[in-house]
Amino acid sequence: MKKNKLMVAGPTEIESDVRRGGSFPMVYNRTPKFSKFILRLEKRLKMFFKTKNDVFILSSSGTGAMECALVNFLSPGDEVVILSGGTFGHRWHEIASRFKIKSCLIAVPQGKSVDPDVVEENITKKTKAVFVTANETSTGVLIDLEAIGARVKRTNAILIVDAVSSLGADRLETDKWHCDVVITASQKALAIPPGLSLITVSKKAWRLVKNSKIDKYYFDLKAYKKNLARGQTPFTPPISLLYQLDLRLKKIHKKGMRSIIEQQKDKSLYLQKRLKAVGLKIIGSKPSSGVVGILFPDKINASDIVKKLRRKYHIEITPSPGADKTRIARVGLFGDINFFDIDVLIKALKKTLCKK
Ligand code: PLP
Repeated sequence: MKKNKLMVAGPTEIESDVRRGGSFPMVYNRTPKFSKFILRLEKRLKMFFKTKNDVFILSSSGTGAMECALVNFLSPGDEVVILSGGTFGHRWHEIASRFKIKSCLIAVPQGKSVDPDVVEENITKKTKAVFVTANETSTGVLIDLEAIGARVKRTNAILIVDAVSSLGADRLETDKWHCDVVITASQKALAIPPGLSLITVSKKAWRLVKNSKIDKYYFDLKAYKKNLARGQTPFTPPISLLYQLDLRLKKIHKKGMRSIIEQQKDKSLYLQKRLKAVGLKIIGSKPSSGVVGILFPDKINASDIVKKLRRKYHIEITPSPGADKTRIARVGLFGDINFFDIDVLIKALKKTLCKK
């Protein structure tokens, strides 16, 4: 079977050396040697998140980290502000509702980035947390996280950031921008297989943990904190994924976060330029570096284009989730994707559009 080129918003193409890292011989995790490995990994993760706070490793996809980011800091009846520009912002609202949290939902029109002042205006004395999505993956639109962080810092609320599709692709300064809780997952800019997620927690956020009355077991961060102090995780971690994470972080740090982010931005700008040259419209005035959303003209069905690219050219791009799937398709640039791959995609896209 011919393997399709992954230009979706994750999972990504994985560099061959990192891929091989997944087949290293298995080891037992409850050993001093493994603890040393975890503590070394932890140092690298702090650099990746740009934080001095702990970074906890979860065996779950990104949504598990979202749930973890909510259940540890809140209690039923608490009030929160949720910023939603699409599917993933809305997912915060769905999780909050499930745990009987009262949300003030700021729905941002598709493709738009919210005014940080509007976020601040909606925070009251009762607001416990503000939930945002750094890059709304369903459209590829970034928010001004730095400005929002500065506003939330002035309040008693904590800022909880879904950075699943932005950390490692777009600049994100956890501590400098006052992000109290940041989550990400393995299958996007980290470019390793899916199944692992990460969460970092500030001192301000830890203060809410002891008052939280939501029942949890697997995602109880207190257990993760206690175990991390000795280089362990409370439950068996995905050991092969950790090997791959280690390899990726080593490479990222060798290159430097700044140059990784610049490289990703160059890819995104190049793709945007080439798409515009074909006559296609990009969503949002601030597209992310990891995912670019294309708004197709009314007479063209985005879903059909996606299917044709798959069938004829073995390239996977992805329609927007939900009702927008016929209007919007997204191209993911995470992982082992280069300028040549972008050229190949544009050529295939041009041919597909011509045949309409
Ligand atoms: N948040 C964002 C911004 C995402 O892009 C995704 C997945 O694409 C998720 C959360 C959910 O992650 P997962 O599918 O790994 O549960």
